[in-house]
Amino acid sequence: MQIKQENKFKTFFKRYGAITLTAVLVFACVLMIGITASVNAPQEEPTEDVGNTNAVIFTSPMTNASVTKDYSELLMYNSVLERFESHLGVDLVSNDSNDVFSVLDGKVVDVRYNSLEGNVVEIEHSDGFLSEYSSLDSNILVKVGDLVTKGQVIGTAGASATGEDGEGARLHFALYKNGTDIDPNNYLDLQAK
Ligand SMILES: [Zn+2]
Repeated sequence: MQIKQENKFKTFFKRYGAITLTAVLVFACVLMIGITASVNAPQEEPTEDVGNTNAVIFTSPMTNASVTKDYSELLMYNSVLERFESHLGVDLVSNDSNDVFSVLDGKVVDVRYNSLEGNVVEIEHSDGFLSEYSSLDSNILVKVGDLVTKGQVIGTAGASATGEDGEGARLHFALYKNGTDIDPNNYLDLQAK
C-alpha cells in the first residue's frame, strides 16, 4: 500500500513535476517583481481636489470677520438690483479692522473700478488659484504687476460696491481655481473668524 502510494506520487511528479515547479517559480517571480515595483514606486502625489484643504494654506482676507452674506450658487434675491442672482463670493465685515490681506503669495493681475463691484483687486497665485477682493476703499495699496506675500495688506474694505445689499465697509471676497469660481469656505475658515 505504502509503495503503491509512493509510486503514484512518483508518477505524478514525473508527469506534472516540471509544470508545477515552473508554475511555482513563475508565481514567485511575479510576486517578487510586484513587491519590488511597489517598494520602488514613487510616492503618489496627493490628488488635486476642489474640496482638499491640505494642499494650500490660505490666510483670512480680514481679521476677526463675520460673514454677512455667504457663497451661494443658488439664485438669491438682490434687493438693490431687484433681481435674483447667485452670490459667487463671501461678504465679510470685520469687527476690528478694515484692512484686507492677500490670502496667499501672488501677483496682482488686475486693479479696477466699476460701480457695481466697486474697487476690485485680483491676485493670481500658484496652483491655478486667483483671489478677488471687491468693494474696497479707493485707497488701494497695490498696482498691477506687484508681487504680494500672504497676509500683506492690499487695501481696506469699503462701501464702493453699489450692486449688493449691505451697508458700511465690507469685503466681497471671491476665489477662483483654473478660471472657475469656487466656494472660499472650502479653503478658508471664514465662519470661525
Ligand atoms: Zn458679495
